[in-house]
Amino acid sequence: MMITTMLCSCTGAQRNTGSVAEEAAESYQKVTFDTDSAMNFLLMQTAAGPRVPGSGAHAATARFLTDKLASYHPDTLLVQNPQITVPGTDKSVTISNIFARWGAEKPAHILLLAHWDTRPFADNDPDAANHSIPFDGANDGASGVAVLLEVARNLAQRLPDNIGVDLLLTDLEDSGISNDDDSWCLGSQYFADNLPYQPGQFPRYAILLDMVGGKNALFHREAFSDRLAHDVVDHVWAAAAQSGFGDKFVNMYGNPINDDHIPLNRTGIPTIDIIENNNSATGSFNPTWHTMDDNYDNIDPKSINAVGQTILNLIYNE
Ligand SMILES: [Zn+2]
Repeated sequence: MMITTMLCSCTGAQRNTGSVAEEAAESYQKVTFDTDSAMNFLLMQTAAGPRVPGSGAHAATARFLTDKLASYHPDTLLVQNPQITVPGTDKSVTISNIFARWGAEKPAHILLLAHWDTRPFADNDPDAANHSIPFDGANDGASGVAVLLEVARNLAQRLPDNIGVDLLLTDLEDSGISNDDDSWCLGSQYFADNLPYQPGQFPRYAILLDMVGGKNALFHREAFSDRLAHDVVDHVWAAAAQSGFGDKFVNMYGNPINDDHIPLNRTGIPTIDIIENNNSATGSFNPTWHTMDDNYDNIDPKSINAVGQTILNLIYNE
């Protein structure tokens, strides 16, 4: 509580001497994203252990996420539980795509999504001995989910005036095989084939959050998003700039990423991917990607805050 008070007085001091841009960002901000709360949601996931499909931690986390969303009183809570074979194995697992809707009576709605499973092995780790070992997935999985849980917590307190919001936590995104594009994103592929929407009632657009918690993360305009849902990228990057995060949401082209937004775009829902994909050290993902270093210690609350506050500003200003 003491820390919160200090932060408040700090913000007040900044407001007195703040720039025009800072003042504009403050008036745009109707709801404040609580980064500490989001970091706690992230820790709850990593503390369960790697959420590898078929594992005990995976089953426990499916229950945790479902119960958590239910506690925020959505109008609809739906869990898809198909049996799917894990790519490259003969193992069949029960997956959970967890879907919730707030503001069902609104004339328009948008969809926010993130994958909650983790890759079964750290096959990009510099130490080959780790290539068969699962990892925490603090960034790759838990970060996007943490932001969405914090969004849900806010939706329970106050709905946006003009839109409803749907949240989707997808499963079995990250058990794919290199050079086999269709082996990735199996949960979102199933969702796309079994949409909980009637014709004419699709979301206006959708936003995928994936790996949004890297240290000093920059978010470039992911190439498939830019091609398939250009106007949505413009809309979200403008919201980020108006929120004061134009330095993190870089208005330049990024790499093309095979991710959960691809199956959704095939359904006709314009869907973009907010993802760190042009890291200066690797040329692509954060250096912790699919390594044992993808853990809580390597999460940057500032990155989580930039994405979370941008999403809240976006939905409460629609
Ligand atoms: Zn991954």
